Amino acid sequence: MASVKFDRIFKVYPNGYNALKNFSLTIEDGEFLVLVGPSGCGKSTALRILAGLEEITTGKLWVDEQIVNDQNPQQRNIAMVFQNYALYPHMTVRQNLEFPLRMMQVSAKERQQKIDEAAQKLGLINFLNCKPKQLSGGQRQRVAMGRAIVRDPAVFLMDEPLSNLDAKMRVQIRGEIVQLQKRTQKTTVYVTHDQIEAMTMGERVAVLLAGQLQQVAPPQELYDRPANVFVAGFIGSPAMNIFVTELRPGEDGMLRLRFGSQSLALPQSLRRQYVELEAHLNQPILAGFRPEAFFLPDDSDSSMYPSLQVQLASIESLGHEMLLYFQTSVTKLDVEEGYGELVNKDWLLPKGQPNSIFIARVPASRPLLGDSPIKLGVDLTKLYLFKADGSSIPRIFP
Ligand code: ADP
Repeated sequence: MASVKFDRIFKVYPNGYNALKNFSLTIEDGEFLVLVGPSGCGKSTALRILAGLEEITTGKLWVDEQIVNDQNPQQRNIAMVFQNYALYPHMTVRQNLEFPLRMMQVSAKERQQKIDEAAQKLGLINFLNCKPKQLSGGQRQRVAMGRAIVRDPAVFLMDEPLSNLDAKMRVQIRGEIVQLQKRTQKTTVYVTHDQIEAMTMGERVAVLLAGQLQQVAPPQELYDRPANVFVAGFIGSPAMNIFVTELRPGEDGMLRLRFGSQSLALPQSLRRQYVELEAHLNQPILAGFRPEAFFLPDDSDSSMYPSLQVQLASIESLGHEMLLYFQTSVTKLDVEEGYGELVNKDWLLPKGQPNSIFIARVPASRPLLGDSPIKLGVDLTKLYLFKADGSSIPRIFP
């Protein structure tokens, strides 16, 4: 077993592209860490550096107490599982599992024992004499993992290992990998662009954007306390509704959060939870509500809640709940468009006519007509606030 430490690593490719910028991350001995971020953010680069397949430009890479910058892949005792399986098609499952052991000059008896053990763990006992083409995608992925397991590496690396599988198989193998890691307690670094995969698998999740680490935390903490507007928008599905706004003190002394031509009054108790909020009044900031922050108030008590009058655009019924798409007159940040680098503040400038569709998630309880005006309750305790530079305005939860 082993711990891993990326220490202020920069990676500049020969063409000048800077793929990792001051990347620091410690992965504990036996931990399952997921590295997640949009395509091109540098996840594979980080993984390939750890495997020894890519040179480090500056910075240090530690495995346990040793700097391994200059060690070749064979010296590192690290096994990598890729999305394209990389199985030998002309070999049986047994031979595929045996191959790395032969390379390591393991005795025939021990090879047999390790193959049986791995096949048992992965449910491959009955397929040892099959060729890869006779197997399903899920089984092939298990063989690929088996080939890594038999080597008994210090660290396991997985690069989008599930992306070739269909949705159902992905969920199943996802669970198997988590179980396997729990049993073997091997330090594992798992790369994916899929935030749902990251949230369901990782003990801790490291979020990367444009070669820079944004936040590393357990999944629930990323969701509840995102460090910045990128993490807030990237983690969670449907995504958080994030919009450009400002906070203004009203004549009654209450702070009001502008929402187009409407506004929401912040209760004093909530206002006090945000640290140094006063520094951000009367200037552009970003605010966010996850879809579950909205609710349909009962007619009888609708005056008791902060609420918004909005135009329903469409409804997606998911059985136990529904997603309400509603029209607003605010400028929303679009996660799909990407945020570029967070230092770019262009998104704070109003672009064109503010006119964004928001999403609310509510229980599927009452019939609603699409394309009609509705009153939506807002749970202001679920408000997220971000500074103009995209970082979260710190909040202390009672
Ligand atoms: P991810 O795994 O997050 O999709 P990668 O680590 O593969 O991202 O790539 C990060 C960035 O580095 C991308 O913009 C990619 O185009 C670039 N890149 C990757 N490999 C090379 C290379 N050999 N030469 C130049 N640029 C590269």
